[in-house]
Amino acid sequence: MTLLGHPSPVTFIVPPFSPAGSVHAEGISLVVKSAAISLAAIVLLAGLPGCAPATPTGPPPQSFGTSVFAVAAAKHPNEAIDVVFAPDDDYGDMNDVANRQAFLDDVDGMIQLGFANNQAWSLNAPVVNYWYMTLSGDVQPGAGSCPSVSWPNLSDATFAEVIILLHTNPLRDCAWGNRVTSEPTSYRTVVHEASHAVFGLPDEYCCDGGYWHAPPVMYNAENSCLTDGSNAAWQDCQALTSSDGDEWWRSEDGNCDIMNCGSVHVLEYGPADWAVVEGVLSALPNATISAPSVFAPAEWP
Ligand SMILES: [Zn+2]
Repeated sequence: MTLLGHPSPVTFIVPPFSPAGSVHAEGISLVVKSAAISLAAIVLLAGLPGCAPATPTGPPPQSFGTSVFAVAAAKHPNEAIDVVFAPDDDYGDMNDVANRQAFLDDVDGMIQLGFANNQAWSLNAPVVNYWYMTLSGDVQPGAGSCPSVSWPNLSDATFAEVIILLHTNPLRDCAWGNRVTSEPTSYRTVVHEASHAVFGLPDEYCCDGGYWHAPPVMYNAENSCLTDGSNAAWQDCQALTSSDGDEWWRSEDGNCDIMNCGSVHVLEYGPADWAVVEGVLSALPNATISAPSVFAPAEWP
């Protein structure tokens, strides 16, 4: 599905992680939370007769072309957010079973310790399909803030809302339209970058991110922020000046959400982010959408 109005020419950048002072504690927390949402359970649910797609299109396809295969795909792609993981060539030849398993183990971690730890993604997992591809790309340090990326042939993945190229070499990740990069243990980064690609959310941190007019999250003028009734429930309009000199107004200033803060763990969306996310999810055919019970700066659980 194509996200109409997506600001494709913008480069998105994620801030460096904050100091990992509580890595151990957060790691325990992540494991506990993800235990309830195992990949095996998702696949099992997808196979139950009562969970057939709501339209008479039959079961969703489990592969596309010769290079894209389902990890957990319960919905037809035109009724779902489709996330496709692609390997960096550092994983080796995907025809080798051990190499492919190593890549899939990392994909599993991205889903269970990344996406499953953000409530908007977790509660709406029934409308999210996860896939992997076997063609490899390459991610290397770039000349500027973003890496230099050689993308594999993506012609089998044209249905994807986001294509995530997993690379094991450490560097700062970015998103370009629906293409993003992530290290396989950057659980917050992958959700942050995918949120740019899938939902068109702007960065909310200062000052070298990607910003655009995206009510009720971000505004190009103070008056637009102050007079938008849709942000009344949380309105706290504050300016940020981007490194290229443009002034933007954020409606939930001070709220440490996944588009604003670095963290060693996955943060929730703020209420403004959710308004945008809900709009995209609700536009999916036959979708029943669940609102998060927790919004940033609170954490889940
Ligand atoms: Zn970003």
